[in-house]
Amino acid sequence: MLRSGKEHLETLRDGRRVFVGSEQIDDVTRHPAFRGAAETVAAIYDMKADPALRDVMSYEEDGGRHSIYFLRAKTREDLQRRMEGHRRIAELTYGMFGRSPDHVASFVTGMAMKPDALVPPCGRPDNLVAYYRHIRDNDIYTVYAVVPPQAARNPEFYQRQNIPVPTLRVVREEDDGVVIAGMKMLATGALYANDIWIGNVLPLAPDQKKEAITCAIPCNAPGLTLWARKPMALDAKSEFDSPLAWRYDESDSMLLCDDVKVPWERVFVHDDALLSRDIYIKSPSHCFGNHQSNVRYWSKMRLLLGLCSKVANATGADQVPAVRETLGKMAALESTIAGLVHGQINAFESWPAPYVCFNRRIMYAGLEWCTQNYTMFIDELRTLCGGGVFQMPADISVMENDELAALREILRRRLVHHPQPLVPRDRLERIQQAGRRPDGDLRRAGEQEEARQGGGGVM
Ligand SMILES: Cc1cc2nc3c(=O)[nH]c(=O)nc-3n(C[C@H](O)[C@H](O)[C@H](O)COP(=O)(O)OP(=O)(O)OC[C@H]3O[C@@H](n4cnc5c(N)ncnc54)[C@H](O)[C@@H]3O)c2cc1C
Repeated sequence: MLRSGKEHLETLRDGRRVFVGSEQIDDVTRHPAFRGAAETVAAIYDMKADPALRDVMSYEEDGGRHSIYFLRAKTREDLQRRMEGHRRIAELTYGMFGRSPDHVASFVTGMAMKPDALVPPCGRPDNLVAYYRHIRDNDIYTVYAVVPPQAARNPEFYQRQNIPVPTLRVVREEDDGVVIAGMKMLATGALYANDIWIGNVLPLAPDQKKEAITCAIPCNAPGLTLWARKPMALDAKSEFDSPLAWRYDESDSMLLCDDVKVPWERVFVHDDALLSRDIYIKSPSHCFGNHQSNVRYWSKMRLLLGLCSKVANATGADQVPAVRETLGKMAALESTIAGLVHGQINAFESWPAPYVCFNRRIMYAGLEWCTQNYTMFIDELRTLCGGGVFQMPADISVMENDELAALREILRRRLVHHPQPLVPRDRLERIQQAGRRPDGDLRRAGEQEEARQGGGGVM
C-alpha cells in the first residue's frame, strides 16, 4: 500500500503527547511551528504515490505495491533502485531530512534480510519479520531512539546516590508484554512519524540487560511524551526569509516513557545487552540505514555547493581566480561523495544469501568522509558570503512597506537591476504584484535569497 500525503497527515492526528517547553501541541499538522515540515513529509508520501514515478519510488511484492526502501535487494540493480529512491526523497528536502521515512525503514529492511541475527531466546526473529511486513504493507513512517541520554551512561553515579538511572529500561514483565520507563535520546522526526524503534546502537555492558530492550512503539503510546527541542520555524517570519527553517526542520525529540506497555509481538530483543547492538552489525541493517545517510548527505552537499556558487556569482567574486579555485574544490568534494555512493553499489557484497548488500567498507568510508568534511564546507560558504549577509535588510517586509518607498527603491535597484540580481527579477516582481503575500511564489529553498540566511538556520 502507498499512502498519500493527506492520508499520512491524518495518521498524525492521533492524540500524541508533544511538548515544546511548557506548551502542549495538540496537532503538529496545524501548529505554525510544525505544519511546514509536516507538509514536507506529506510531499514525500505524495511523490512516492505519484503514478509517474511508480517504477522509481515503489516495487511489487507479495501482491502489494510498496515504497522502494522496503525492497530486500537481490541484485546490483535492486541496490541501484534503492539508492535512486533515497536520492529522490533527499532532493525533495535538499538533504535536510536526515530521518525521512526511508531511514529507519532501511534499518528494519536490512535486518529483515537476515532475521537469524536476532538469536533466540533473547532475540525474536519472527516478531522482526512480522514488523517489517507491517510497516511495509501499511507504509508506516518509523523513526528511532537508539542512544541513552547523555550523562546517564554511568549507572554507578546513580546507584551510589540511590536514585533511579534515567535511561530507558524494562521495569516490568507482564503476560502480554513488557513495561518500559525512562528516557531515550533523541528521536529525530518523531513528530511526523507513526512509530518509534527503541534500541541500542552504542555498546552496553553485559549486565545492562534491562536497558537492552529493542522494540517498537506508536508515537501516541499511552505514557509516552515527546519533548521537542525549540522549532526553527517559531522564529521564522516568512518562507521568503527562512526558506529552510520554514518547511525543512524535521524536529528532534527526547523520549520520556512513563510505564509504556509494549506487547510481546513488538519486542525484538530482550535481556541480552550484546545482542541488542549486534543485530545492526551482523545483518545489513546498519549498512542499509547509513547508505541512506550517505545519499541524503550528498543532496545536502549539492545544496551547499549551489549556494557557494550563487553567492560568488552574486558578489562577482566568481571572477577572482582564487575564488574559482575554491569553487572547484567544493565541486570536487561534492563529486567525491557521489563517487562513494556509487562505489557502494558497484562493489556490492553478495551477503547475506540470497540477498546483496552495499559495500560496507565504502559505506563506512563515506560516513567518515561526511563527518570530516561538513564543517569545512559550511565554513567555506560563510567565508564566501563575507559581509553580504548584513547588507541585506533583516527581512523582506521592507519591500512591502510603502512608507519606505525611497529605501525600497535603492534596494530594488540592488536586488533587481544589479548585473547579478540577488532575487530573480520575475520573482521579485511577482511578490510585489501579490501585494502582501511574499510566500506564494517562493516556495523552494535554493534561491539566491538563501545566501542572506546562510540557509535559513537549520544546517
Ligand atoms: C541533530 C541530532 C539528531 C539526532 N538524531 C538522533 C536520532 O534520530 N536517533 C537517535 O537515537 N539519536 C539521535 N541523536 C543522538 C546522537 O546519536 C548522539 O548525539 C550521538 O551518538 C553522540 O552522543 P552524545 O550526544 O551523547 O555525545 P557524547 O557521547 O556525550 O559525546 C559528546 C562529546 O564528549 C566527548 N566524549 C564523550 N565521550 C568520550 C570518550 N569516551 N572519549 C573522548 N571524548 C569523549 C567528545 O568530545 C564528544 O564529541 C541525534 C543527535 C543530534 C545532535
